[in-house]
Amino acid sequence: MAYLTGLTLGKKTWTPEFVQAIDHTRCIGCGRCFKVCGQNVLLLKALNEEGDFVDDEEEDEIERKVMTLIQAENCVGCQACSRVCPKNCYTHGPLNLN
Ligand code: SF4
Ligand code: SF4
Repeated sequence: MAYLTGLTLGKKTWTPEFVQAIDHTRCIGCGRCFKVCGQNVLLLKALNEEGDFVDDEEEDEIERKVMTLIQAENCVGCQACSRVCPKNCYTHGPLNLN
């Protein structure tokens, strides 16, 4: 299996682990992951009681907020989001080149 690899500043090879999913059943909407991601991948979104996404303006409808992937293609695979998440919401994986 061949995976996409990168180089560190010291030219050591490393394998990025890209974000694949966020488990919304576990997410408490704390925003820690959002603060550490510098790639504009994540956004907090509101859910209603039925678990459907609603606009932030519809305050009466909002039951809770969860983190979502808005631009997963921007991810650089650093896994900082996963390391700060207190609820173990994240799934990451390397990019298979085969
Ligand atoms: S792995 Fe890094 S770049 Fe990707 S979503 Fe998490 S913090 Fe952002
Ligand atoms: S750090 Fe984890 S629990 Fe907090 S908003 Fe991000 S995914 Fe949700």
